[in-house]
Amino acid sequence: MRAHEAGALHGDIGNRGPAWLRPPQDVNALVPQLWPRTVRRAEAGALEIGGASVLDLAAEHGTPAYLLDEDDLRSRCRDFAAAFAGADVYYAGKSFLCKAVVKVIDEEGLFLDVCSGGELAVALAAGFPAERMGFHGNNKSVSELTRALDAGVGRIILDSFQEIDRLTALARESGKRPKVLIRVTVGVEAHTHEFIATAHEDQKFGFSLAGGAAFEAAIRVLDEGVLDLHGLHSHIGSQIFDTSGFEVATRRVLELQAQIRDARGVELAELDLGGGFGIAYTTQDDPSPAGDLAKRINKIVDAECAAENLRRPKLSIEPGRAIVGPAVFTLYEVGTVKDVDGIRTYVSVDGGMSDNIRTALYDASYSATLAGRKSDAPPLLARVVGKHCESGDIVVKDEFLPADVQPGDLLAVPGTGAYCRSMASNYNHVPRPPVVAVRDGASRVIVRRETEDDLLALDVG
Ligand SMILES: *Cc1c(COP(=O)(O)O)cnc(C)c1O
Repeated sequence: MRAHEAGALHGDIGNRGPAWLRPPQDVNALVPQLWPRTVRRAEAGALEIGGASVLDLAAEHGTPAYLLDEDDLRSRCRDFAAAFAGADVYYAGKSFLCKAVVKVIDEEGLFLDVCSGGELAVALAAGFPAERMGFHGNNKSVSELTRALDAGVGRIILDSFQEIDRLTALARESGKRPKVLIRVTVGVEAHTHEFIATAHEDQKFGFSLAGGAAFEAAIRVLDEGVLDLHGLHSHIGSQIFDTSGFEVATRRVLELQAQIRDARGVELAELDLGGGFGIAYTTQDDPSPAGDLAKRINKIVDAECAAENLRRPKLSIEPGRAIVGPAVFTLYEVGTVKDVDGIRTYVSVDGGMSDNIRTALYDASYSATLAGRKSDAPPLLARVVGKHCESGDIVVKDEFLPADVQPGDLLAVPGTGAYCRSMASNYNHVPRPPVVAVRDGASRVIVRRETEDDLLALDVG
């Protein structure tokens, strides 16, 4: 018997995983909040997504592959649009961007944030209307700003005094009057269940509120009169479950809004509260539905506007992860199962930190399930690792898999739609996996698998 089969978890042998992780009653069961909405386990045992079996998808597209549930993605766009009716919902393109997803975002009537010339190019190539785009970044180059102006990007989020000067000069030259927001660092940083609301001015993004830079930036833009100051922006972090951080941020930004009104008699039209809404990666995460978030945030905005005697600005939000994250799972094939006696069982898959860097980068937790069949074996606590030359190449730190997991098995890791393909690398010259969209039983490749020829094409020496 392997050391970590559920029955052997006693005494001080080896790894037991985090306290919240319990051996499941049924190792084949799917926890719904972790999976794209159309995913189920068929009677014969294999997972289905969008009406297609992972066995067929693996045979057709190979592994590893990111499988995108198109209906799930659309339903999350609709949930946010309906919940935040009257607000502009900007999909944060950095979480995952390709032409097919841009088209979905467009068809669902959302707005789109980009933060580099490359992201802008993808959005424009997909025909996304520039006036529904926002352009972010703490170091946009003159050439990126010029392209944004030429394309007619709907709003540019200003991040530094140098950028104000640069964009002012470009606007003067071109005779354009771009809409801009000022990114305010409100001294709130929120991550998962906690937020800190005093320090955390020490970061590269935005204009400091406490130090007065944000006020000064707004006054400079207004007095210069070249850029169209449309509103204030705040983004406090990511993977947030609790709206108390938004409450403090909203209060602080609206206080600034009132100061600007008092100084220049201008009430800014828009308030952007950024993104960061959390999703479930493991059973310990319990995200709020978009409707609940919207209710709480709207209440906060109403209360703070009343307190400052301000007209309610139009609200905008910028969810990335909460829209695309849960719509995707990564399908891997198991290559080896190694029982390091008395310590841990390592299940190696055919990808790893090159297709999901979040575990190594942020110590992120994920979950996994046997995807190609079901099993009657007892649960075994395992660590899912990749094939890279790095001992930190971990995909799932701790998960109970059936004890008979073996080479050739398919393994699915949910919640990989955001910040996985978009952060993928070619480490060890492992080609990046494809993104395959599945809907109504049919699959289509929307980003093809990288090939060794692709890698060699860049190597011109
Ligand atoms: C990254 C980012 C977002 C999206 O964050 P999520 O956690 O994916 O929702 C939104 N706005 C800004 C400014 C960002 O940098």
